[in-house]
Amino acid sequence: MSERRRVVIAGGGTSGWLTAAALGQQLGSVLDITLIESDEIGTIGVGESTIPTARAFHRLIGIDEQRFMAETGASFKLGIAFEDWGRVGDRYFHAFGETGRGTWMGAFHQFWLQAREQGFGGDLGAYCLELQTAEAGRFGAGGQGPELSYAYHLDAGLYARHLRGVAEGAGVRRVEGLIERVERDGDIQALVLRSGERIEGDLFIDCTGFRALLIGQAMGAAFVDWSEWLPTDSAVVTQTRAVGPAVPYTRAIAHGEGWRWQIPLQHRVGNGLVYDRAHLSDDEARARLLSAVEGEVLIEPRTIRFKAGRRTQAWRGNCISIGLAGGFVEPLESTAIHLVMIAVTRLLQMFPFDGDCTALAKRFNDQAAADLERIRDFIVLHYVLTERDDTAFWRRARTMAIPDTLRERIALFRDNAMAYQEGEELFRVDSWVQVMIGQGVVPRHHHRMGAIMGEARLRQVLDDMRAQVARQVATLPVHQAFLERYCPYPR
Ligand SMILES: Cc1cc2nc3c(=O)[nH]c(=O)nc-3n(C[C@H](O)[C@H](O)[C@H](O)COP(=O)(O)OP(=O)(O)OC[C@H]3O[C@@H](n4cnc5c(N)ncnc54)[C@H](O)[C@@H]3O)c2cc1C
Repeated sequence: MSERRRVVIAGGGTSGWLTAAALGQQLGSVLDITLIESDEIGTIGVGESTIPTARAFHRLIGIDEQRFMAETGASFKLGIAFEDWGRVGDRYFHAFGETGRGTWMGAFHQFWLQAREQGFGGDLGAYCLELQTAEAGRFGAGGQGPELSYAYHLDAGLYARHLRGVAEGAGVRRVEGLIERVERDGDIQALVLRSGERIEGDLFIDCTGFRALLIGQAMGAAFVDWSEWLPTDSAVVTQTRAVGPAVPYTRAIAHGEGWRWQIPLQHRVGNGLVYDRAHLSDDEARARLLSAVEGEVLIEPRTIRFKAGRRTQAWRGNCISIGLAGGFVEPLESTAIHLVMIAVTRLLQMFPFDGDCTALAKRFNDQAAADLERIRDFIVLHYVLTERDDTAFWRRARTMAIPDTLRERIALFRDNAMAYQEGEELFRVDSWVQVMIGQGVVPRHHHRMGAIMGEARLRQVLDDMRAQVARQVATLPVHQAFLERYCPYPR
């Protein structure tokens, strides 16, 4: 490689700044990195609930947990509580971490199903440390108590600002301005700003959000629409003052035409109501959100449109899309920031320094498509498994056609209690099991290894596991008190 490669990142939302921070930290010595963002357009301003993979990514780019959490008002997240999904009044948890302990022959839930058949064993959730810790409103990290699998709730605006500090510290140049034109000669040559400034580059990263200015509008990568499987297309969002201590989990509460989230931060609560415009008007959605939130409303509610689907090619020519520009499923299960992080990790691993990159781009695109498709199936699962029939929205959801891949998975679990995690798939066996059991799927048959153990032994093993979880939870501090000590947000 002879000279420094010029990388231009279009967009300064979470995707743009995560990409800039990582490229700057890891490859800054051989790259000239410029990020362009427009204050006039702003960022989407949501994306405040993460999953545990964020921790590994933060370590990769040298983010100090306590400092980052204090600066972004972050709280800890141990999972998501789903309310009113299976039926109105139901509640289940999709927690991080492991539920019980399985063996090489089968996952833990197979033993639990055996116990249930014989009338003991309690709730599946009683075997998951993260779930019980979340329900108890407790938390501990940094060598305090048992090791928990956790993620963060964070303030999206403050997070982008924090990442900007990391990126600029690693030599990334920031340009404020509106991109008006993309100059191409096959590949992209330069981005021309309204000010007339022309920014040339060798590689262009499209982080312009749903606009997909480079990959879609300029490079013409088509969009594969998944709205037939994902029934929502809008969200109305606001922030409220906290009325109590921050709980260490996200709430996802279904309503008649979608669901709403509640994300507790240290200094406020993030709220959003997701819906399908075909079934609920914007005004009705706004009113529904405002009547549901607790605490003083801090900002005027804002409506966001989104479309589920992905670009046929995330990488085309010398343009790579990361974040919403490349695809989006929907906010349930909070996977979008994770998708940004794995795309950036792959970009670091597959960086096109020189030569023909056609094969590299194909590999990148195949992986990006697979990531999104697997997440799509997991999210569709929550809708299709509903037993609600109180509205047209839910009646449609429970009877809609679903991807074959998902149909086969549900049948496998319903018939034989088998769940699996394939290859680089994000969601683990425990995740599939928690949602399927949580939404009322009762497997017809299960593995008989629990029966072979004999009732007395099975009972003993399960009692011991539950007792161990309860003992561990009791050693942990209260979440709010831990936050105040570990990473207080300056007020
Ligand atoms: C309703 C909803 C809820 C969500 N909740 C979650 C969640 O809980 N967890 C999660 O992980 N993800 C969530 N997401 C996704 C998450 O918000 C995004 O993945 C994340 O914010 C990254 O967005 P982005 O940076 O790709 O786009 P954006 O934030 O939209 O940033 C785009 C950037 O491009 C710039 N730009 C655009 N056009 C131009 C132009 N012409 N010239 C110059 N600059 C330009 C903008 O100024 C901005 O800086 C949610 C998304 C939605 C829609």
